[in-house]
Amino acid sequence: MDSRVASLLAHVREHAENRPGVYRMLGPSGELLYVGKSVRVRTRLLSYFRADDGEKAAEIISHAHRIDWEYTASEFAALLHEFRLIKSHRPLYNVEHKRDRGHCFIHLTREPVPRLRVVARANGESGDYYGPFHGRASVTEVVRAVSDLLELRDCASDTPMRLADQFQLFPVKQEPLCMRGQLSRCLAPCAGGCTHAEYHARVTQARGFLEGTSDTPLLLLRERMGQAARRLQFEYAAELRDRAERLEQMRGWIVELGQLLKQLSFVYTVPGHGGEDRAYVVRRGSVRDELPAPATTSERDALEARARAVFERPEPETLGLRAHEAQEVMLIARWFRLHPEELERTLPASRLLAPPDAAPSLS
Ligand code: SF4
Repeated sequence: MDSRVASLLAHVREHAENRPGVYRMLGPSGELLYVGKSVRVRTRLLSYFRADDGEKAAEIISHAHRIDWEYTASEFAALLHEFRLIKSHRPLYNVEHKRDRGHCFIHLTREPVPRLRVVARANGESGDYYGPFHGRASVTEVVRAVSDLLELRDCASDTPMRLADQFQLFPVKQEPLCMRGQLSRCLAPCAGGCTHAEYHARVTQARGFLEGTSDTPLLLLRERMGQAARRLQFEYAAELRDRAERLEQMRGWIVELGQLLKQLSFVYTVPGHGGEDRAYVVRRGSVRDELPAPATTSERDALEARARAVFERPEPETLGLRAHEAQEVMLIARWFRLHPEELERTLPASRLLAPPDAAPSLS
């Protein structure tokens, strides 16, 4: 063990305690290499010094020039703090947190001529993210089907667009730049095939489908199935039926996600280390407010007022999640999936907002 690592070990041995908290490993210029959390900070940090060569922990410690940590009131508080630090600093070694390999999202891009894409992470470009979904292959198929049915473009972001109502100094007749335009699977905004308003009407339908408020792609698919059957194109009709089933399945996921988001709206009281109990106001899977858990009637009234303000704030009840929201929803949902008993510490928003005779019980 070299002297730098030995002095880091001595520092941990001398100062770290076995309490919940978040720790940071910093590089030679103070750059953040890694952020971690543990219910027992001391034990976790000491484990880094026992890691075998080739393990990630050994690699991190071999580059660390400083280790610091801060204690938190609970494991849940550590989880949130770790998440926020990783989100704002994106440390080099926090790869797992940057990407959740089991999930994917549908991204409705915020471009002048938007597209639907399937992405692994919900923290890239601006736009709306829908998900998280399991099964990238089937989500990709559904996105392709929705794009074809609504004739949305799926070409690269730098493909030049020439909408029909776009001013052109020397208008020339254009051919669509790919087969989708020629096969009527895209409105061909690259070749004056539609106006801005016509294209955006389709984007609105796609958004409605992804938010569970519109069935347009399914209705179009069923209409085409009927046409194919009437023309005795049974093989094609069967293919369309399979596609419709996948779209129905996606709609099922969307409804499920909507229910999950509704369930994840509550006040969550967490007992903390040394009596530092905290109350978290969670709306649609993201922590919107946090304060010490109330011990007196006036503190309870204050918490109730803060929680009401959060739950009653007008907000679109859609499934379109911004990047940071989607990640936090996944984090909170995972916490309660791994610790279902913690749901007993929650007071659902629906009960808090119930009429006065069904009074809330924050006590
Ligand atoms: S037809 Fe044009 S706009 Fe549509 S996908 Fe092809 S290149 Fe893109």
